[in-house]
Amino acid sequence: MNAEIIAVGTELLLGQVVNTNATFLSKELATLGIEVYHQSVVGDNPKRLKEEIERAEKRSDLVILTGGLGPTKDDLTKQVIADHLGKKLVMDKAALEKIHLFHEQRKHPMSENNQLQALVIEESIVLKNNNGLAVGMFLNLENQFYLLLPGPPHELEKMFEQEAKPLLLKQLSKDTVLMSRVLRFYGIGESRLVTLLDDLIENQVNPTLASYTGKYEVSLRLTANGSSDTDCKGKLDNLEAMIRERVGDYIYGYGDDTSLVKVVSELIKEKKLTLSAAESLTGGTFQSMLTSISGASEFFEGGLVTYSNRIKKEQLSIDSKTIDQFGVVSSQCAIEMAENTKKIFQSDIGISFTGVAGPLELENKKPGTVWIGIAVKNKETYAKCFHFEGDRNKNRELSVLSGLYLIYRDLLNKQISEKIY
Ligand code: ATP
Repeated sequence: MNAEIIAVGTELLLGQVVNTNATFLSKELATLGIEVYHQSVVGDNPKRLKEEIERAEKRSDLVILTGGLGPTKDDLTKQVIADHLGKKLVMDKAALEKIHLFHEQRKHPMSENNQLQALVIEESIVLKNNNGLAVGMFLNLENQFYLLLPGPPHELEKMFEQEAKPLLLKQLSKDTVLMSRVLRFYGIGESRLVTLLDDLIENQVNPTLASYTGKYEVSLRLTANGSSDTDCKGKLDNLEAMIRERVGDYIYGYGDDTSLVKVVSELIKEKKLTLSAAESLTGGTFQSMLTSISGASEFFEGGLVTYSNRIKKEQLSIDSKTIDQFGVVSSQCAIEMAENTKKIFQSDIGISFTGVAGPLELENKKPGTVWIGIAVKNKETYAKCFHFEGDRNKNRELSVLSGLYLIYRDLLNKQISEKIY
């Protein structure tokens, strides 16, 4: 099934309101395996709305309209669609009672306009509004579907989740099973990922493939439909294998609920290892992120924030010669910091962060130049250099995440074969 979303409201065209409903719906529909090929915005104008509906139904199985279901004169969505389909508007008893009750309880007089919110298109399935008064509608006219949802996002989101989604699932699952899988990536931008998977995305039919970005990372949602769970799983496994072949180095986990710090924490615990950290430019944010995970005490010993050169020497025993000869923004300093923190805290892994957060240069190195050192027991200590291109805070946040990513790869005994950032 493919869908398109028409957001109705002049306020959207004027830029007074951002069309977040379309974003929400597109994401939700992707999880159902329904592909959205078009989104549009139209003002509160019956002629243009009708034209938009006519265009949409020619190319989309499901036409979703948001907004314009309220009590005011400019709320004309259901009237336009009813006229267009040659259907009448009829009063929905339950919706009308709710409107009466609402006004009675607040001792507000009820106007005729208020009652209009209880009018629905004949033959439609009425969708309850648990956050407001305007009801939604779902129509199936010989496999051409229409879904009408209210404009206010808190009303629309609840109605979609509670009322519309089960109806869509029922339609979709008449004889098929749906299954989704989310792959999480770190160290690769969305445009590069999409370019490397260009042909898979271009030719997608079943499973479908959709990318979306989070803060500093990208996710891919794979959605398959098939005759059984095993059938869907097989299709998802095949596609995942193709994706892994090309960009597997950047995948760190599965699902919307995970994060790099969660995955790394679990991995360290599973391997019964302990960790300590020495931080310069990140100023303790790595340790703060780790300790935001419940159960961090099982593997995290502690760490030092060694911001000045004096403290690097006094507290972390960094050799003066290292700093004088190579500077603090160097692999030598990062390696010594990682090894010394590991020794001081008697942990299995020591990690260090030293570099230039910005905006000013340090030791003639550009802002965003960061060395991360990794010392793991029974392995050779190493440091990796990154060149981030953000502002001060972004460079610090990317340092923390990249440090986690290095630990992740190291514990799986995987080299970082490609440049990340
Ligand atoms: P109401 O009963 O509140 O009139 P409605 O279904 O008629 O609801 P509209 O009048 O079109 O909806 O919009 C009401 C408000 O909902 C808008 O002023 C705006 O704040 C918000 N809204 C409408 N459409 C969108 C959208 N596409 N994305 C985000 N917010 C929206």
